[in-house]
Amino acid sequence: MKGYCGKLLRVNLSDGKVSKEDMSEDIQLGFLGGRGFAAKLLWDEVKRVDPFSEKNKVIFSTGPLTGQAIPNSGKMVIASKSPLTGGYGDGNIGTMASLYLRRAGYDVLVVEGKSKEPCYLMVEDDKVSIIRGSALWGKNTFEAQDILEEKHGKNIGILLIGPGGEKLVRFANVISQKGRAGGRPGLGAVMGSKNLKAVIVKGSGTIPNYNDNKLKELAKKGYSEIKEKRNYDFWIRQGTMQAVDWCNENACLPTHNFREGVFEFYKELNGEMLERIKTGRKGCPMCNMQCGNIVNDSSNMASELDYENVAMLGSNIGMKNLRETALLNRIADELGLDAISLGSCLGFAMEASEKGLIPEKIRWGDFQIIKDLIMDIIKGDGFGKIISQGVRAASETIGKDSFRWAMHVKGLEISAYNCHVSPAMALSYSTCPVGAAHKDAWIIGWEISTDRFSYGKEKVEKLIELQRVRGGILECLTICRLPFVELDFGYHKIPEYMEAITGNRFDWEASCKEIGDRVYSLIRAYWIRENNQFNRKWDYPPDRWFEEPQSQGKLKGMTLSREKYDQMLSWYYELRSWDQKGMPTEETLINLGLRGVFQEMMSQHGCWWSD
Ligand code: SF4
Repeated sequence: MKGYCGKLLRVNLSDGKVSKEDMSEDIQLGFLGGRGFAAKLLWDEVKRVDPFSEKNKVIFSTGPLTGQAIPNSGKMVIASKSPLTGGYGDGNIGTMASLYLRRAGYDVLVVEGKSKEPCYLMVEDDKVSIIRGSALWGKNTFEAQDILEEKHGKNIGILLIGPGGEKLVRFANVISQKGRAGGRPGLGAVMGSKNLKAVIVKGSGTIPNYNDNKLKELAKKGYSEIKEKRNYDFWIRQGTMQAVDWCNENACLPTHNFREGVFEFYKELNGEMLERIKTGRKGCPMCNMQCGNIVNDSSNMASELDYENVAMLGSNIGMKNLRETALLNRIADELGLDAISLGSCLGFAMEASEKGLIPEKIRWGDFQIIKDLIMDIIKGDGFGKIISQGVRAASETIGKDSFRWAMHVKGLEISAYNCHVSPAMALSYSTCPVGAAHKDAWIIGWEISTDRFSYGKEKVEKLIELQRVRGGILECLTICRLPFVELDFGYHKIPEYMEAITGNRFDWEASCKEIGDRVYSLIRAYWIRENNQFNRKWDYPPDRWFEEPQSQGKLKGMTLSREKYDQMLSWYYELRSWDQKGMPTEETLINLGLRGVFQEMMSQHGCWWSD
């Protein structure tokens, strides 16, 4: 089909074998790209394996909009079986590698096997090389990027891991362009387990579109329209950092390991403070609303800030100096650690220390101790070794009642929204296909602007609508959600783009429902097949939000209702046509074109479904 390269590049690091495979039109129509391709490949090829075994695969996946001239199209999805969660793991990342992969003639790159020694992979159009990388091993992601650019030139796309991935820290991610990050559920560690330090891509071809002139016209219009949006100027000044004030005002700013939703020193971390120290902006390719706010950190080095990393490495761990938080963020990017999970692990360590569950003295907001603890994560020393496995594993290690305030869903640490009184956002975290990520459905904005106290069915309907669009279609197309969410850039643009690219009519409503639901149900089946113990409880947020009210702010004394949450979860399953144990039924899977998935899902997992 037009708009696709129609090729998958497969590289086996164990034996060096390289193959180029056709991707059928059925796969393109049925799964669209990005997350859809990744889910299909993981379902078909990565079955019941240890995430760190050489049988696991890393999938770099693009969609038909990737690398096109249109706004916000410079992203790809990286996916694998997650070592952090044991389930489906993916994350999108803005990178030149996404554009170059398509220009090299591939929609997807699959890396499998394990190299005997550190290496990096270089894809240059038809030429694929596995290059010795021992000299890069141990380098941080910024250093390694410089070395590779020095050697191979600047016109390349580079995806890198840092020491975090090399040391198999379970929340190690993938970094590109010194600050773009993706693959939260430990995908950097999967690369590390394969001795794969980096992937470099260079492509010189063009993407075979149906109507390039029409696409150029639409793209030009799209870029101008973004700039004319009412919120554009404020967005350029603050980007997602405007959320610090909003979250504090609405008592959902994660504070002291999500114990509170307000932070006394929030003004030290907010968008206004950012504006005072901001030196520039960075972002993904093909974007004219770049959201990476560059500041000089407390060591006078550049750091790229957005709301999530500031909240998790700021208020959540009691930090009250934005330059110091910026330094922690820079350290996370250099080491290749996911800043959200890192902030959650640090908060967990601080609370464990405060409660006397561990001998280490790790005080809230103690900058030096935090920096030392981050290095201990890399070195595998002391409590750093324990939290390098993520908060779920850490709580299993230290025991007592720590599971109640280990802030994760399905093993993935919760991103930066406290949900003591946001039932729909809690449900969004709990039903997100990778664990507690906000990107699939950031429903909290809508929820707070309507009725945050309600547990009505309309909220569940809204959640599914958002998941279909953002977690479904946008992740398959690998296009950034922010212009649509933040600037009201209408979704109707996407069918126009798709029609110019493929020459086929793209029915927005039907695609969201069919493709979005197909991908969600397939990923759900993957979780069930891979985890004997999977059950309804896995779709619950942490106990803290049900049991332990906030002690400050306008929501003081309030918690989620377990009973009402459970009713919402039942509606969620019903609306997705899954059974009340959270399992897609055979009929649902067949209706979604996934014949055979039910039998395999049932044959592989344990017997949790029997009462
Ligand atoms: S808005 Fe931010 S995340 Fe989205 S494409 Fe632009 S730089 Fe990337």
